[in-house]
Amino acid sequence: RGISRFSTAVAAEEPITPPVQINHTQLLINGQYVDAAAGRTFPTFDPRNGDVIAHVAEGDAEDVDHAVAAARKAYDEGPWPKMTAYERSRIMFRTADLLEKHLDEIAALETWDSGKTYEQSANVEVPMLIRIFRYYGGWADKIHGLTVPADGLYHVQTLHEPIGVAGQIIPWNFPLLMFGWKVGPALACGNTVVLKTAEQTPLSALYVSNLLHEAGLPPGVLNVISGFGPTAGAALASHMDVDKLAFTGSTDTGKIVLGLAAKSNLKKVTLELGGKSPFIVCEDADVDMAVELAHSALFFNQGQCCCAGSRTFVHERIYDEFLEKARARASKRVVGDPFKKGVEQGPQIDSEQFKKILKYIRYGIESGATLESGGERFGSKGYYIQPTVFSNVQDDMVIAKDEIFGPVQSILKFKLVTNHPKHLDKKKKPLSLALIDALIDNRNLDEVIQRANSTRYGLVAGVFTQNIDTANALTRALRVGSVWINCYDVFDAAIPFGGFKMSGNGREKGIYGLNNYLQIKAVVTPLKNPAWL
Ligand code: NAD
Repeated sequence: RGISRFSTAVAAEEPITPPVQINHTQLLINGQYVDAAAGRTFPTFDPRNGDVIAHVAEGDAEDVDHAVAAARKAYDEGPWPKMTAYERSRIMFRTADLLEKHLDEIAALETWDSGKTYEQSANVEVPMLIRIFRYYGGWADKIHGLTVPADGLYHVQTLHEPIGVAGQIIPWNFPLLMFGWKVGPALACGNTVVLKTAEQTPLSALYVSNLLHEAGLPPGVLNVISGFGPTAGAALASHMDVDKLAFTGSTDTGKIVLGLAAKSNLKKVTLELGGKSPFIVCEDADVDMAVELAHSALFFNQGQCCCAGSRTFVHERIYDEFLEKARARASKRVVGDPFKKGVEQGPQIDSEQFKKILKYIRYGIESGATLESGGERFGSKGYYIQPTVFSNVQDDMVIAKDEIFGPVQSILKFKLVTNHPKHLDKKKKPLSLALIDALIDNRNLDEVIQRANSTRYGLVAGVFTQNIDTANALTRALRVGSVWINCYDVFDAAIPFGGFKMSGNGREKGIYGLNNYLQIKAVVTPLKNPAWL
């Protein structure tokens, strides 16, 4: 058992040279690429080997000031919010076309800087970014208020107006998707933006922002600051001239930026934070399919997903079979250079995350969980980790509570009796009420519901069952922002995404994502001459 059973299909080898040139390493302020005011730079690394890819301008509070001033001017004096919505949408559509044209380079840059597989960048993430720009480009000229049927002498209407200057802070795990989820709706609604990228992955946003300008975006509308959290990020979160802050990152940092926003100008804040999501495999599940889905729910993107299905709850009756197959699947996972075709798992983002994940694997072993597969670094260079599976995981173990953010699957056993409406008591109640009672009766599901919900997070949940009653009951009882039934990681631009509890507030994507960047003005007009006459 354990490490000796581990074998992967591809060995680590000499990294492939990425087929892309790096053209942009400076800050983007007022439509110009410029050095940081203090002249400082910081290195960004190739996770495959730790080599420096490029030195990037390091923005701090002074650069944030310049960027906010440019965004403020572009908002207050125009042209962005003053342009017709149709013109704004055309720029967003042209951007999508340019992203499509440069898909290969963008995907290569993203893979080089983040370690995610090229196939994922090229087939999933860049296409999703393109879709986001088309989706929100489509919304730009369809945003409008309501006429309110107020009684009496007044005509009342609402205007849905942009908020102003939006500050946006994003993480490293999906640099381009996070860029799209933030910038797309903000621009569609007529806001101007100062975006701070994650210090681990500054390159792709700088590249893509240039395409936005090529598509016709006026200077100052989108400004991009590379730099660190406590300096550039904190300056943005506490800036008096920023009207709205959208943050994606860890729950701990979310608390800090919310505090900074509160202490400065009470800017409106939306937060997309961490998760410890349950993936619940019921007794009636097709085990092979459930294993495959649970595997990708956890291991996708090297396990570095806020919505990773990091607690795999499996019904006791199929637990042994599931475990055997989950171990076999993880052992076959293809680890290697993310540029190589067929590779499923590249390196973790950096040495800090790499060490943190190995520490959690040690905690798992020390706390008595059974190591079924993996458990060690993969190869001798870079930040690769073996796909790791723990069984016999208990709810109170650290690996079942903390967000590990790595390729470590924790499998937990639960009991569940299929949720049939067998408590129907027709004599005591009218049939309709008795039926409703029976259908929403969760008694048989209580154990897994209580355990799935016993976390400070509430981002997503996966439910794998063929029983529609079970799916309905779990869906309503789980305290999460998304429930994926017999599927996982479905991220269409139109589907809202966000958290309950300490996984955040607000929803990104879809029509709901527009609300983050709009404020409502009520306009009241007398129906006749002044009402007081
Ligand atoms: P992080 O919180 O360390 O960093 C996120 C961003 O915040 C980075 O740009 C960083 O520079 C900045 N930052 C750090 N300290 C700051 C400070 N004091 N003031 C202002 N900004 C600061 O998170 P991370 O490690 O980069 O990302 C991983 C986390 O992001 C995970 O917890 C993951 O679950 C979460 N995440 C959530 C979602 C979601 O949609 N809910 C999506 C992706 C990632």
